Amino acid sequence: SIPLGYFGGIGGAAKRGILVKGSAFLDTLTAVKTVVFDKTGTLTKGVFKVARIVTKNDFSESELLKIAAKAESHSNHPVAQSIREAYGQPIDDADVTDYEEIAGHGIRAKVNNQVVLAGNDRLLKRENIDHDNGNVEGTVVHLAVDGRYAGYILIADEIKDDAIKAIQNLKSLGIEQTIMLTGDNRIVAKSIAERLGLDSYMAELLPEGKVEAIEKLLSRSGKNKVAFVGDGINDAPVIARADVGMAMGGLGSDAAIETADVVIMTDAPSKVAEAIQVAKKTRQIVV
Ligand code: ADP
Ligand code: MG
Repeated sequence: SIPLGYFGGIGGAAKRGILVKGSAFLDTLTAVKTVVFDKTGTLTKGVFKVARIVTKNDFSESELLKIAAKAESHSNHPVAQSIREAYGQPIDDADVTDYEEIAGHGIRAKVNNQVVLAGNDRLLKRENIDHDNGNVEGTVVHLAVDGRYAGYILIADEIKDDAIKAIQNLKSLGIEQTIMLTGDNRIVAKSIAERLGLDSYMAELLPEGKVEAIEKLLSRSGKNKVAFVGDGINDAPVIARADVGMAMGGLGSDAAIETADVVIMTDAPSKVAEAIQVAKKTRQIVV
């Protein structure tokens, strides 16, 4: 039989907006020593704003933004939403064809029969397009039209107010390692990791790179457990792999909420420490 204290633990967590899918995960939570976070939408707000447009090869700013908005017209990625918002007009996508969204890279589509690329450094390298390295602090969306570099759009996301507290509270609970995984560039990742006081970070990861990173941590952790916290956009497979997979339910995708062992109903990363604390208290009562 399941000790009564566990029901108290699960109920107590639920009252705080933390859904634990079974008492076994309360036990696992008490043994967590490593907490791994996704960046976008988990530690940051996931709401990007266009900060600057840098044009090259005779493209004008308005041309660049219009082409970008068209190329991004069908994407749900937060990056795409920010570009459409900066464009600020209804997008006529009648001339957008051969649309392809490449995870961890960006978009390849035809706009008015010209091949348009909108994405990161990796996308342009893959297509052999000479471009600025975009060595600036922020997420960079490069644009190329028919093999010609057109410039880039610099976009910025903000750290959640709650994220600093989230990391501090984990440290106070004795968590040994806090790590961030992201598909975004190293400059952005380094800056966020420093500002939050994370122990380490890995940047420029493809979705499968995040899975590999978690597997490596799991293989080294022994009886210490590894938790992963994500918002579910591209990270449901990582949530599934961790000892404790946690989905932030505020914005989270259905797939992530389904696979997660713990669902945080708000978008506050400090709930991770709260979940561990509730689990530890429950254990003291039960044992
Ligand atoms: P994260 O780890 O930040 O959640 P993703 O794996 O979703 O990131 O994406 C990684 C990177 O791929 C983004 O930072 C961006 O550079 C690029 N990218 C993804 N989707 C798009 C898109 N629709 N348009 C432009 N770039 C994109
Ligand atoms: Mg994400």
